[in-house]
Amino acid sequence: MGEVHLIWLIDADPPSEAGGGKGFYPASASTAPPDATLMRTRLETIHDVAVAETGGRAVVTLHTSPRYRSDFFQGPYPAIWRRLVAAGLALALHPHEERANGTTFYDDEKHLRQVIAASLQRARAAQIPLAAFRSGSFSFHPALPAILAEAGIGLDLSAGPGLFDKRRSIDWPAAAAEPDFFSRKGLPVLEVPLGWDGENAELDRNYLFNERTDLAGLIRVLDAISARGAARGRPELVNFLAHGFGIADPTWRRQAIAFLRHAEARGVRLLSAQEALRLHGPAPTPARPLPA
Ligand SMILES: [Zn+2]
Repeated sequence: MGEVHLIWLIDADPPSEAGGGKGFYPASASTAPPDATLMRTRLETIHDVAVAETGGRAVVTLHTSPRYRSDFFQGPYPAIWRRLVAAGLALALHPHEERANGTTFYDDEKHLRQVIAASLQRARAAQIPLAAFRSGSFSFHPALPAILAEAGIGLDLSAGPGLFDKRRSIDWPAAAAEPDFFSRKGLPVLEVPLGWDGENAELDRNYLFNERTDLAGLIRVLDAISARGAARGRPELVNFLAHGFGIADPTWRRQAIAFLRHAEARGVRLLSAQEALRLHGPAPTPARPLPA
């Protein structure tokens, strides 16, 4: 079987009354801050599970959005984020930039630049280290790798190979599953895509998405990734996506842990953000041509 390198990505979005992150604009039903007790419990559970199960090898998202622009940079959160980082986890800036009409600001480079700059400023002021980036709901903009590199962020976890929704600025070709998808283009950021079986683009079936499938489904997708790695003769590098609400839920948490144990038992190498950058970091020289 082929070698697989895995990053455990935990998206810690706050609850939203509208599915798919569509409640993260100001014109939603409520502008109250997220429930701090619920969020604290989720983040503490993520900390405890990651420490116990992976030695702290996980990347957790720090949510920002038109609705919750600065909530997670203040109040009880900076201390919680620092505790996660001290345990070995890395934090990914996670802008959910939805508009009320269902489109997203990922079509607006100026907006993205402003959000990222302002978020990094808030993070610095609160002494929260951000090492990675994950876009909201797989949206992206071609200028993002350069913006992230300028901001000193070398790791991106936005890609969902095969996903396409032009209205929401989602356009990930199958080639996004290749470990050097960005570096081959000379882009200065390491892209680690959501694990994908390469067949269809159903989030409920074809990806390493904890809360959308069952354990047998996750293992089937991992088998396909491993077979691809064997065929290519090089390690596959993918992420396994779970969510804060899932890690707080006993059933989904058990499944995520069972999957990680299964992966470990068959030789999958779980990487921290730092280890991934060390092993796979963006090439400083133009990428080599693919073998014929
Ligand atoms: Zn999210």
